[in-house]
Amino acid sequence: MNLRHLFLTYQAQTSPSPVGIEIERAEGIYMYGADGKRYTDLIAGVSVSAVGHCHPKVVEAVREQTSKYMHLMVYGEFIQSPQARYAARLASLLPVELSNIYFVNSGSEANEGAVKLAKRFTGRSETVACNRAYHGSTQGAMSLMNDRRFQNAFRPLLPEVRFIDFNNFEQLPIITEQTACVLVEPVQGEAGVILPAKGYLQALRERCSQTGTLLIFDEIQTGFGRLGKLFAMERYGVVPDILTLAKSLGGGMPLGAFIASKAIMNVLQSPALGHITTFGGHPVSCAAGLAALEVILSDNLMKSVESKSRLFRKLLSDAEIEEIRGDGLLLAVELGKPERLAKFIELAYQNGIATDWFLFNDTSFRISPPLIITSQQIEETCQTLKSIIKSS
Ligand code: PLP
Repeated sequence: MNLRHLFLTYQAQTSPSPVGIEIERAEGIYMYGADGKRYTDLIAGVSVSAVGHCHPKVVEAVREQTSKYMHLMVYGEFIQSPQARYAARLASLLPVELSNIYFVNSGSEANEGAVKLAKRFTGRSETVACNRAYHGSTQGAMSLMNDRRFQNAFRPLLPEVRFIDFNNFEQLPIITEQTACVLVEPVQGEAGVILPAKGYLQALRERCSQTGTLLIFDEIQTGFGRLGKLFAMERYGVVPDILTLAKSLGGGMPLGAFIASKAIMNVLQSPALGHITTFGGHPVSCAAGLAALEVILSDNLMKSVESKSRLFRKLLSDAEIEEIRGDGLLLAVELGKPERLAKFIELAYQNGIATDWFLFNDTSFRISPPLIITSQQIEETCQTLKSIIKSS
């Protein structure tokens, strides 16, 4: 049976031109096509595979957990060791204000839960989010994405959402005593990797504290060492009231979480079962996520992020590009024109490199590889990238 035919005929398609490569297996920073071709995963499955594909310790944790049990009961009823242990481990690494963890299945769901929690805790109904932010594709998360193309196609969406420009200090007064929460990515990912201006996250924190608004950091892309610290909030020295995680949280398995203090989280008990998920915190995902986190910590993967970032920048400095934006191993390489980027991506796959563009930036390509990438692999990759950039 022709798999490509099955893929195109029976699997829902949302893109007119999916990459459409059949991958047979993946290991470390590489994915291997059914035709034997090797692809360097320059984007870690979009910021997921921080410890690389199929890390032996993650695979072992999955094996061990599946030999005991998989799904048992809806979230939060039975004591399931992988959930309890992972929650405690995360809490031990987070500030004390962020020590209560609600596991869900995905990033969109984590943001849905976080905004629900903020509305319930503050008794307010208004939400503020940033222009050019991406928080997910479910109806609530999409309501927090100020993009007419997407929003107009799916109205009606959540009411009372107001938007501010990321890094615009003058718009902070839009956050008022009516605002339940501000949801923000500390580094905007899909906008094409936009860093916070000096003092911006602090000013946001201050305005939220003044108005009794809960500050939510969406660290779904920036978490788990990508910026050289376990979380971006450490990198920028600002603690939110609620933190949302997904992507690398599951070590390659589906997992999301929204995290707050116990005092805030407790409002989900009224009404009882204020937030329910069947599969959230799946024990196999939690076992995999915990194993991946321990690899990040014990192999000290965060320590070399900065030097690897510098190496990418240095090696690409004489390439025909306009700029490289970003921090740590979350980088955007600006090519200037959409047609150039389209050609570049096509050539990248032809030359065995998997990368992509950003939802709100079609002139840059993404570099967010597994943190385990070595200097030699960076050198090999950049050599190929440079020759492709030249031909694009
Ligand atoms: N938030 C951010 C910053 C993201 O980058 C993404 C996904 O790309 C999401 C939320 C949504 O996560 P998911 O696709 O797991 O629902």
